[in-house]
Amino acid sequence: MKLYNSLSHKVEDFIPNVAGKVSMYTCGPTVYHFAHIGNLRSYIMEDVLEKYLRYEGLDVKRVMNITDVGHLTSDGDTGDDKMLKGAKREHKTVMEIADFYTKAFFADCAKLKIKTPDVVEPATHCIDEFIKVISSLIEKGYAYEAGGNIYFDTSRLDKYYVFGDLSEEDLEVGVREGVEEDGNKRNKADFVLWFTKSKFDDQELKWESPWGLGYPGWHIECSCISMKHLGEQLDLHCGGIDNQFPHHTNEIAQSEAYIGHKWCNYWFHVHHLNTASGKMSKSKGEFLTVSLLEEKGYDPLVYRFFCLQSHYRKSLVFSWENLDNAKQAYQKLASRVAALIKAAPSQPVAPSEEAKAAEIAAAFNEAMGSDLNTAQAMTVLYDLLKADIGASRKLELLEKFDSVLSLGLIEAAGKLTEESSGGDVPEEVLELVRQRKEARAAKDFALADQLRDKISELGYAVRETREGTEITKK
Ligand SMILES: [Zn+2]
Repeated sequence: MKLYNSLSHKVEDFIPNVAGKVSMYTCGPTVYHFAHIGNLRSYIMEDVLEKYLRYEGLDVKRVMNITDVGHLTSDGDTGDDKMLKGAKREHKTVMEIADFYTKAFFADCAKLKIKTPDVVEPATHCIDEFIKVISSLIEKGYAYEAGGNIYFDTSRLDKYYVFGDLSEEDLEVGVREGVEEDGNKRNKADFVLWFTKSKFDDQELKWESPWGLGYPGWHIECSCISMKHLGEQLDLHCGGIDNQFPHHTNEIAQSEAYIGHKWCNYWFHVHHLNTASGKMSKSKGEFLTVSLLEEKGYDPLVYRFFCLQSHYRKSLVFSWENLDNAKQAYQKLASRVAALIKAAPSQPVAPSEEAKAAEIAAAFNEAMGSDLNTAQAMTVLYDLLKADIGASRKLELLEKFDSVLSLGLIEAAGKLTEESSGGDVPEEVLELVRQRKEARAAKDFALADQLRDKISELGYAVRETREGTEITKK
């Protein structure tokens, strides 16, 4: 496939180091709060990328860190410690906060059909690796001690700002939140690898190190966790565009100083979710979470659908009105799929449809292979629905495309059928039907039968059909 590479500023052929295999790293969440849907946009698009690489037959190994230590409110080394902030806010320990918000993050991901990466590693599990790499950087002269902390010396590199194209404003990471600059740094761009002396005296998590009791900086964790699981040559590194500087710039600096050669070939960055007036932030207006979307009556997959309608390298403008439009379009699509499911038994797959089906599948590949053009892939989905082929073949292709897009259209269609056949079925019965569906999905047929009996006691019969679950009053 062709993919835009933030390092070269060009769309390039994606060629992994080892044919047929892809090593992929994703910066994970800092688990001190619920995830904002703007951040989840990145995870959705990265999920589509991973699934498309798999769809192309590549063997992907994807690794993600969980930041549970060391990340300050400014992405530079200033501001407050985010984890500590969360712990104080909720009167809990840092580890309780980390545990709670890690689970919340994966619960959101599940609702958005984001696959869990093959390896998920919390930073606090890798202290030995951090110490090993930092020690080596000091030995090689790339890091120094000042005021008790260990810093990376950016002046030792031929080129530090590897992504280029940075404006003055982008570079002022330390200053933008009105916090004082760290006087220990030899160069303005230097960054902390290990904190020992810091203003966070009440930092709960500290470890012994050759430089004293302390804790790691944020950037070092991604380099170490990536190298631990994916080796010293990485194919693809992903993240939100705001991670490009300083986080990814620092990751490259320390990784390449450590290994002595190029580290990662392709950098994939997802752009911001904005409001009409500019960048969304946690401090301005409503804090948008998956739970809030649900409270307001949106299926989380409507948000996924909304994200897929535009290209990942363009800012996406969020408004409730835009989301309503996506909701309507999604429901319309689901009802067309419901009609297909209904028609499928009378329209079996015919060999004469193959040429047309292949043409549509090729158009899907063309769209996704062109720098992950999901908006174009959605157009192909609509073309498929209009195409002159039978319902069964359409459904087959739809399921195939949805293994990448993960819009859950067949499930959504099933729900619609259920609602229409349900009519005024009491909520109690619908809840039992939902539980029975989950039991069947988990292949717990004994429980499914018990639930059917309970439904029957309440005066309803339930039956699985191709169109979904049929509920009738006895
Ligand atoms: Zn990272």
